[in-house]
Amino acid sequence: MPYEYDEENIFAKIIRHEIPNDTVMETEYTLAFRDITPQAPEHILVIPKGYYVNYDHFAQEATDPEILDFTRVIGAITHAIGATPGNGGEGYRLIANAGRNGVQEVPHLHVHILGGRPLGRMLQRAE
Ligand code: AMP
Repeated sequence: MPYEYDEENIFAKIIRHEIPNDTVMETEYTLAFRDITPQAPEHILVIPKGYYVNYDHFAQEATDPEILDFTRVIGAITHAIGATPGNGGEGYRLIANAGRNGVQEVPHLHVHILGGRPLGRMLQRAE
């Protein structure tokens, strides 16, 4: 079944410059900006400029240059915020929510980069 993409979602509007964002990094294929409701001292969202609804859509249909660039930008930001454990940083977490079970609010692929404080265990067991 083909992926359905809502071109009126808020991140599509950011890509089209219809609403502002706090840009951290921008390349030909990728945009990174600060989350409007940060959950940690560092909370950055990385999105492809192409219209992909979630990670599996991107993995199946994005071009190799898009995928390479997206991955490189995520890595560059973990370095830029000083979070990379291999280089003396204290670490970070990447999150990509998808669909109903993943509790995805904005239907355009985004990877959350979180850092700057201990983030606790990955998941709380639901009661
Ligand atoms: P998710 O639940 O993974 O879909 O996360 C969506 C994220 O987008 C949330 O952390 C929101 O705070 C964030 N968000 C929503 N609107 C904006 C916006 N205009 N600029 C930056 N971040 C936003």
